[in-house]
Amino acid sequence: MSRQLTSLLTIAAVCVTVASAPAQAAAKPAEKSAPVDCAKVKCIALTFDDGPGKYAGTLLDTLKKYDAKATFFLEGQYAKSRPQYVKRMVAEGHELGNHSYSHPDFTKLEPGAIRNEIQKTQDAVKKAAGVEPKLLRPPYGLADLQVSDIADEYGMPIILWTAGSEDWASKNVEAIKKKTLEVAKPNGIILMHDWVKQTVDAMPAIVKSLQAKGYHLVTVSDVIKNEGLEAGDVFPLPAGWEN
Ligand SMILES: [Zn+2]
Repeated sequence: MSRQLTSLLTIAAVCVTVASAPAQAAAKPAEKSAPVDCAKVKCIALTFDDGPGKYAGTLLDTLKKYDAKATFFLEGQYAKSRPQYVKRMVAEGHELGNHSYSHPDFTKLEPGAIRNEIQKTQDAVKKAAGVEPKLLRPPYGLADLQVSDIADEYGMPIILWTAGSEDWASKNVEAIKKKTLEVAKPNGIILMHDWVKQTVDAMPAIVKSLQAKGYHLVTVSDVIKNEGLEAGDVFPLPAGWEN
């Protein structure tokens, strides 16, 4: 791995405040055909944590209707209890990430316990959909050098987010829509949750609005393609993690 992290400090992945995207001269309509080159077109990655949540089926219907892709950072315990959604996510072209098995703070665990959380989730996802996640998002976005080293063992970069929808806090359809559109920016990675019903209810309007602004809704791997990330790297790098 690249020795990206030199600090043992535990740093919360606080949402980075991002300036509004520069005004686009003319919004290009989102094209229906894949693959998308995010170096050339306007991309954004919506990410859904802690699922599959119980509203995942409705969310998948919406994504399908608008030909939008998303990334799901799954908890192994729910991949195990709702395997049908995991299977659908893969079949419908979405990306899967590992978000632990039972959502503990990785920075408070022994290495063996972290590995156990990651491995059990890899196994549950593989059993459900025949594939293994290639991205790690630790619970609460909390990582330290030990977590990074273990992510490296699994060959996974650690993916945080550029901004949050704050859906879990507001639980309000209008507020979630407003916040998400406000923080959207090219190649942004937006944190959302598919267990929040209001998020799933807000999604048709969010997807339509983003596409009207010319965004292609793509997976995390699409937006990080040109970042040159190696296993164990953290992206985006929170303030305080120096190169
Ligand atoms: Zn979470």
